Amino acid sequence: VMKTVRHELVVLGGGPAGYVAAIRAAQLGINVACIDENARFGGTCVRVGCIPSKSLLESSHLYEETKHSLADHGIKVGGVELDLSAMMKRKEGIVDALTGGIDMLFKKKGVTAYRGRGKFSGVNTIEVSPSDGGETIQLQADQVMICAGSRPASLRPVEEDGDRIGNSTTGLSFPEVPKRLVVIGGGYIGLELGSVWNRLGSEVIVLEALDRILPGLDNELASLAHRTFKKQGIDFRTSTFVESAKVVGDKCVVAIKGGEAIECDRVLLSTGRTPSTDNLGLESIGLETDKRGFIAVNENFETAVEGVYATGDCIGGAMLAHKAMEEGIVCVERMAGIKSHMNYDVIPAVVYTNPEIAMVGKTEEQLKEAGTEYKKGVCPFGANGRARTLGDTGGRVKILADAKTDRVLGVHIIGNRAGDLIAEAAAAMEFGASSEDIARTCHAHPTLSEAMHEAALDVEDRAIHTA
Ligand code: FAD
Repeated sequence: VMKTVRHELVVLGGGPAGYVAAIRAAQLGINVACIDENARFGGTCVRVGCIPSKSLLESSHLYEETKHSLADHGIKVGGVELDLSAMMKRKEGIVDALTGGIDMLFKKKGVTAYRGRGKFSGVNTIEVSPSDGGETIQLQADQVMICAGSRPASLRPVEEDGDRIGNSTTGLSFPEVPKRLVVIGGGYIGLELGSVWNRLGSEVIVLEALDRILPGLDNELASLAHRTFKKQGIDFRTSTFVESAKVVGDKCVVAIKGGEAIECDRVLLSTGRTPSTDNLGLESIGLETDKRGFIAVNENFETAVEGVYATGDCIGGAMLAHKAMEEGIVCVERMAGIKSHMNYDVIPAVVYTNPEIAMVGKTEEQLKEAGTEYKKGVCPFGANGRARTLGDTGGRVKILADAKTDRVLGVHIIGNRAGDLIAEAAAAMEFGASSEDIARTCHAHPTLSEAMHEAALDVEDRAIHTA
């Protein structure tokens, strides 16, 4: 007989959606368990996503700065060398520390962790096959949250071998710096990892089927980013369709529709992510997904099956860790009768290239399409004292405010620490701020945040530091 354990809530998946929901549930006094098939909790984000990519971005940035920018500061260094395996070890150390942190939090807060693959065998029953090969455990739950996340999407003509032709996970652990790397897909994951390898010395070619990179981003910022990354040495080929990619001998060959094939050492496929909902036993509870595999939910994150909820990447929308975490919290709180809610209008998005790109709210294109009249305030970082001292004057802050009410509708930043600066805009928008509110807020000097202040002033043409 199978061992059976009862929990009030079972969370299937231990990524940002799942582990955060489990911790919040425990805080609310719910008897909760969280299942993940990996040895380390934290999901895509902590194991093979946000965290390791940012670690490599930081390291490769430092490497490049040391080689090219320190002389500017009057600092001479000689014999700068790359130790790729040490760089990778540091990355793994950070991942270990954070995943270990989740284990510690689970213990302290009272979340029961199961390491194994979970599958529905009934609406209130999940069977867990432990990853260590132990006997299957049956979990009985009043409620189940599906937080199964997503995985890199494959592209039929791209013959992945998980090594030379691989996805973002492969691209986080190349054993050597490829001489020539082809990145298929000009979204944020392709650009972040493309930047890493470009800085470490690869010739990077980014192939994008659309006529622009970074779809979804404000056009003006995306084209500024395009020009900047091109100057950094990334070779962009937009409106380019990949016909096939395969390993041939000791090279990879990428065939292009109507163009010459590209020979390279490695291929990184980053054309999107697909929900991991195909092997959860959903058929046993009669829960269907849409054609792409996403699970539909209502504002309580309830699926079509009573007692079964879903949050995070597997329900679609912005596939971002902070959106997943927020949904996990709101879902659990609403189960517990707390009327919290998600504000999908204020979800920041950040690209961690150099310069960083960050946005929250509507783009100019979206406002035009909706026929919303808006005012625009801009501050280039060239007008910002702190940016000068940092040696990063390339970017700008752009604030879009409603022409009639002055309410902030969108903020777009390209520049050093844009990802940190966007938090002020998100907080302001969450409180329904006007651009006047930001303009009347005293910002510390000299900080990059003053560019936000100046952009807000510029909405009414009263910027002080720009002509
Ligand atoms: P996941 O993180 O995918 O977690 C789901 C977990 O459930 C996984 O561990 C999975 O193995 C497990 N699981 C699934 N099915 C089962 C099952 N049946 N039994 C047991 N376990 C199961 N987002 C950002 O916000 N900022 C970033 O900077 C950022 N950078 C990224 C960089 C890269 C290279 C990638 C790939 C992604 C990045 N993301 C980033 C996206 C972010 O990682 C995801 O949005 C986030 O992880 C989604 O969280 P989730 O909990 O929904 O799913």
